[in-house]
Amino acid sequence: MVSRRTFTTGLAAGAVTGLLPHAAAAKPAYRGPNVILVRFGGGVRRAETIRPGSSFAPFLLHRLAPRGVLIPNMRIEQLDGVSTSHAEGTINILTGRYLAYADRGSSLFEDRLEPTQPTLFEYLREAFALEPHDALLINGEDRPQEEYLVAGATGHRSLAVRAEMLSLHRFKLHKNRRILAEAKLEDDGLLRAREELDALIARAPPGETLEPAPVVAAFWDRWRADFGDTGLVNPRGDSLLTEIAIRAMRELRPKLMMINYQDTDYVHWGNASHYTRAIAMIDKGLEQIVAAADAEDGYRGNTVFVVVPDCGRDANELMEVPFQHHFGTRAAHEIWALIAGPGIVRNRVLDASADQSAIAATVAAVMGFKAKHAESTALAGILS
Ligand SMILES: [Zn+2]
Repeated sequence: MVSRRTFTTGLAAGAVTGLLPHAAAAKPAYRGPNVILVRFGGGVRRAETIRPGSSFAPFLLHRLAPRGVLIPNMRIEQLDGVSTSHAEGTINILTGRYLAYADRGSSLFEDRLEPTQPTLFEYLREAFALEPHDALLINGEDRPQEEYLVAGATGHRSLAVRAEMLSLHRFKLHKNRRILAEAKLEDDGLLRAREELDALIARAPPGETLEPAPVVAAFWDRWRADFGDTGLVNPRGDSLLTEIAIRAMRELRPKLMMINYQDTDYVHWGNASHYTRAIAMIDKGLEQIVAAADAEDGYRGNTVFVVVPDCGRDANELMEVPFQHHFGTRAAHEIWALIAGPGIVRNRVLDASADQSAIAATVAAVMGFKAKHAESTALAGILS
C-alpha cells in the first residue's frame, strides 16, 4: 500500500531533484527481507574479532557465523588516496565505492565527510514506496559529524529519499524543542534549552532538515518518557546504540537499518583494554539485536544481518601507541564480513578474498535493487 504521505513526498522529490522519472505512486511496495547492517566497531583487527583463540566476540564467531557466510579475507582494496578511518569506511560500505566523499569542512575533532554518490538508503527508497524511517541510520552518542553521513548538500542527493537518523544528538534537538514548546520551566531553564538547541543546530550540516517525521517525534517522546531529560538514565556509549536499535525495530520497523558502533576507537588514547572491552560490548549488542529480531514478528526469519568493520587497525606491537589506523598499514586495510539470514548460505567460510566495496552491491542484491554507481559486484557464493 502506498500511503498518501509517500505519494506526496515522492512527487516533491521528483520535482526538486529530477531523480525520479515517475511519481512515487508508481513504485512497488517493498516485500523483500529486512537488512540490518552492523558496523562492527570504529576499526577492529581480525585477531581480536574473528580469529579463534584470540577473539573477544564469542557471539559473532561461534553463534552468528554458523548461521551464514563468514568472509575472513575482506579488505579495503583501494590503496591510493584512501584513508582507513571511520567515516571513510562507512561511506565505502554505504556507496559501494572508494573515495566517494567530500569534506564539508572539518573541525579539530570532527571529520565532516559526506557521500558524493548515492547510498544504500537512497537506492532503496528510490526503488520502493517506503517512508523515511524505513531506512534508518543509528549513530553514536555525541558524534554530530556522523550527521553528514546522510547529509545532502553536494547536489547528487535527494532529501526526499535519504535515511532517517536516530542518535542522541537528534534526541537532544527534539527534547529542547519540546521543552521550549511546553514552556513549563523557569526562565533560566528555558534559556539553557534555547542555548543548547542553538548549539546543536550550529553543528548540524548546513541546510539540514532537523524536524523529525511525526512517527519519529513520537519515538523520541516515548524515549523521553522512559529516560527523562537529564541524560543520566539512558544507556551510554555503544550500549546506547543497541537500545536505540532494538526500540527502533519494535516501534519504527525499518527495512534497512545501519548501526554505527564505534567505542573500540577509545584505544586512540592508548589503553588496549578499552579496545578489547569495546569489542565484547559490540558483540553483546549484536547478540541482543539478533535476539530481538528472532523474537519479533516481521523480523523473525526475514532479516539478513550484514556485519562489517569500517576499517582495520595496525598490527605493529612496537609502535608507541598500538592499534592505530591512520597510517595506511596493511592491517588497517584488513577487515572481514559476516552475512547471515534467509537466502544466504549457512555455515560457510568463504575462501576468496573480497572487497569492502562489494558490501553495497551485495545488500542491493539481497533487497532487490541495483546500486547503480557501486564499483564492485555482489559477493559470489553467498546466496543459497
Ligand atoms: Zn579512529
